[in-house]
Formats: sequence, C-alpha cells, structure tokens
Amino acid sequence: MIDPFGRHVSYLRVSVTDRCDFRCVYCMAEDMTFLPKAEVLSLEELDRLCSAFVDKGVRKLRLTGGEPLVRRDIMWLIRRLGRHLDTGALDELTLTTNGSQLARFADELKAAGMRRINVSVDTLDPERFTRLTRWGKLDKVLAGLEAARRAGLEIKINTVAVRGVNEHEFDDLIAWCGIEGFDLTLIETMPLGDIGGDRVEQYLPLSLVRARLAQRWTLTDIDYKSGGPARYVRVEETGKRLGFITPMTHNFCESCNRVRLTCTGTLYMCLGQDDAADLRSVLRDGDDAALAAAIDEAIGRKPKGHDFVIDRRHRAPAVERHMSVTGG
Ligand code: SAM
Repeated sequence: MIDPFGRHVSYLRVSVTDRCDFRCVYCMAEDMTFLPKAEVLSLEELDRLCSAFVDKGVRKLRLTGGEPLVRRDIMWLIRRLGRHLDTGALDELTLTTNGSQLARFADELKAAGMRRINVSVDTLDPERFTRLTRWGKLDKVLAGLEAARRAGLEIKINTVAVRGVNEHEFDDLIAWCGIEGFDLTLIETMPLGDIGGDRVEQYLPLSLVRARLAQRWTLTDIDYKSGGPARYVRVEETGKRLGFITPMTHNFCESCNRVRLTCTGTLYMCLGQDDAADLRSVLRDGDDAALAAAIDEAIGRKPKGHDFVIDRRHRAPAVERHMSVTGG
C-alpha cells in the first residue's frame, strides 16, 4: 500500500477495545463513557479485518487499546493472527499494554509468537503510580513485567513525560531499565480528547529532557528503527536503547508508515486528523474484494501529517477522540 506522498503503509495498529482498567490522567477523564458492546467488532470480525490488511501488505501488527488484555478472549484473536507469522506474511505481531494482566498472559503471548511487547510505566513510585493511573497498582505491573521476562519476551517500557509529575524520575527509569534489561521510550503528551484537565500544565518538550539527560548520561545517536516513530540513542552507561517520540517538538510525519483501526472498524489514516474510513459497514455487507477496495480508497486519502499544538492559545484538543479510541 502506497499513499499519495509515496509512503509505504506496512504497519497497522489496532485498538481492540476502548475500555481500560486504568484512567491515566493525560489519557482519559475519570468518568469515561465507553462504546456500547454492539458497536464493537467481534473478535472474528477483527481477525478478518486485520487479515485483509496483511493480505494488502501490512508486515507489522500492534494490538493496543484501551487495554488490550482486558478484552474477553483476546488470546483467541492473538493466536488466530499468529498464523500470519507462521506463513511469513507478517514480520511482527506485538502489543502495547499497561501490564496489569501480564502475569496471567505472558506465557500465552510468547506461545502465540510474540517476541517483544511495549509496557507503559510512567513512574516507579507506587503512590505516584496510583495517582497518575488513578486506578493502577505498581506492584501488579512489576509482577507482570517479571512474568513477561521469564516467558522470554523482550520488553520496551513506554513513559509519557508529564511536567511536574514524573520529570525528575527519568534518570531513575534509565538506571532501572539498564538493570532490568529493558529498552525505554519517552513520549510527549499529545492533545487528544478532553481529559477534564489542562494539557498546557502537563506538556514537557522532550528536547529539554534530552538536554538534561545528556548532562548525566552518554547518549549516542544510533540508526536503530523499531518500525515506529521513535528516534533512538544508546545509553553508553547501561548499554540499553533510549527512544524519544516527539510528535510536538519534531514532526515525524514524513516517514509515517502507519494507519490505525479502532475497535468499531473505523480506520484513521493519521493519529492527529479527523478524516477516517468506516470499514465496519463494508466488512459486514461486502465481500473480500469490496473490503480490499475500501482499504485502498482510505490509504489514498492518508494526509501529509498532523499539526498538534499545545500552548495557552490552543487549549482545546487537536482531535476530539481520546488516545484509547485510536489506540496509542
Ligand atoms: N493500555 C495500554 C497501555 O497503557 O499501554 C495501551 C493503550 S495506551 C492509550 C498506549 C500508550 O499511549 C500508553 O503508553 C499511554 O501512556 C500513551 N498515551 C495515552 N494518551 C496519551 C497522550 N495524550 N499523549 C501521549 N501518549 C499518550
């Protein structure tokens, strides 16, 4: 699949549910209204839709949410999609998770063909963790990480940089990841959805963070690409990779290879734009050829990029939907 700007689209991110067992302050409001179950695609429908993308050339599939591991019978879908790894049609099947259910699922994920996963951890302080996630417990996530490591999964930690909340912990997180053998990626907060709070207060530019970290750590630029938007350095003192995802301070749209599917079958061609394609109606009413044609039509509308702004004049979110809808 090639979009109007000549970019190959080979990476599909799928939000398998909009529900989550956490309520992270930069992601959701506390009193979220979730989709009625009838609107959400069945696991069989998600399998058919994801497989249509694999047939069209997607090589990397990431399940996300909401929290993907709280969706009932999610392992059925993961095992089904694993067949594309066996045939060689897919290079990678992976997951972004908050880790709360990992202790239960780690072995099964590995058995289904997953090699590495992303786990979101914003702080190593148990009280701060519960304040930030509103409902989360750090010890449960740490137990999940231990289970994932024992299962043989490679782990990358995702940390959203929130001003005044976890900005003094990045050194500790780098050191901890070095000891545990995890890579780490820092992410700028993006203005997605109403969170019932002020994003200006939360926003911390990673250009500033990197400059601060460089005073303590030796950061060497490396060419490593994980297939996503992060730019990586190697932390010489730990030997682990540190990634920066900087949608606000550096626009990385020119190399965008991704599209995002929601759990209702809506395809967003850009995380930061509203244009979308309804694939659910084609999925339910049409044959495989109609579905393939609808996917082609959508890719033909992939926009050049997003234009996120967070400052005092732009207090409204760039797009109305939350990260949990499009899948972070
Ligand atoms: N529940 C899973 C998790 O916690 O990783 C998957 C979904 S979550 C939406 C995916 C990632 O998006 C998490 O790392 C989360 O911290 C991040 N995220 C959520 N809202 C964000 C925002 N407004 N800006 C930047 N990152 C955000």
